[in-house]
Amino acid sequence: METKKLCVIGDPVEHSLSPVIHNAVLKQTGLPYVYGRVRVRGGETAAFLRRAAEEGYAGFNATMPHKTDLVELVDELDADAQLYRAVNTVVLRDGKIRGCNTDGRGFLQMLLEAGISPEDKTITVLGAGGAARAVVLKLAQSGARRIFVCNRTRSKAEALAKEFPTQITPCGLDEETLQDCALFSDLLVNTTPMGMHGMAARFEQLDFLAALPKGAAVCDIIYSPPETMLLARAKALGLSTLNGLGMLIYQAVFALEEFTDVKIDAQEVLPAVKAALNEAMNA
Ligand code: NAP
Repeated sequence: METKKLCVIGDPVEHSLSPVIHNAVLKQTGLPYVYGRVRVRGGETAAFLRRAAEEGYAGFNATMPHKTDLVELVDELDADAQLYRAVNTVVLRDGKIRGCNTDGRGFLQMLLEAGISPEDKTITVLGAGGAARAVVLKLAQSGARRIFVCNRTRSKAEALAKEFPTQITPCGLDEETLQDCALFSDLLVNTTPMGMHGMAARFEQLDFLAALPKGAAVCDIIYSPPETMLLARAKALGLSTLNGLGMLIYQAVFALEEFTDVKIDAQEVLPAVKAALNEAMNA
């Protein structure tokens, strides 16, 4: 059987873990695809799309700076890509180009697997950037009662709130606001890069975590390091914690399902993916 090509495009792209995850799943499932990485600069998205079609790619994932540009370049969008106005998965099949977004689904799957259902919950989300858009809108779609979106640039939180105004409340990121939001929250999710490996910016203080009710959960969608300062403090307070590795893995598994049109048993491939990621991240 012919082996089909897949890849991730971005700039920078050399540190992307997508090839590690996808190739681990492909090896485990025996699906006839190979997954690489291609550096594509901003402004060259349309040119890469043409090249991908000519070179017989079955599809590709997109990271910075292509996710938004792709929205206008594909023939059709799935519901999440339409809502988030961002594409992370492009499927080239039967002469058609379909743009999908699997980030929100990946995030939700990770939560559900950890025993956290957003339904009827009050949730504080820190950040209102690209990842927050997928996280917040998926939480709203999944029946969260109230979502406080706390962001440094308040106008971005306000723009996000317009999508589901009855559920989403835009807020600032100051300590007093965080305390007030935390008091009522069953779940707090960090979607800012503060605390990420290689990033200088840190939370100045984390006292707001102590305002969360007992039994609340704290999720940081950062996966490197596996335990950020935010998660370490939450754990010390006896709260349950979750990092972003599951989101990273599940968005990839869902993308592979889109590329191949084959249902993948995530539980079956998870150990191989985690082993490959461990090796890559500790290399
Ligand atoms: P982005 O679009 O650039 O958004 C960054 C957000 O963080 C913005 O809301 C920004 O606030 C805020 N922020 C950045 N630096 C800050 C600082 N020093 N103080 C306060 N707020 C700050 O980035 P993104 O694509 O959403 O990615 C955010 C994080 O999510 C990254 O760590 C990324 O690795 C992670 N992520 C994880 C996954 C996964 O699968 N686990 C997937 C996607 C992203 P302003 O609006 O005020 O600038």
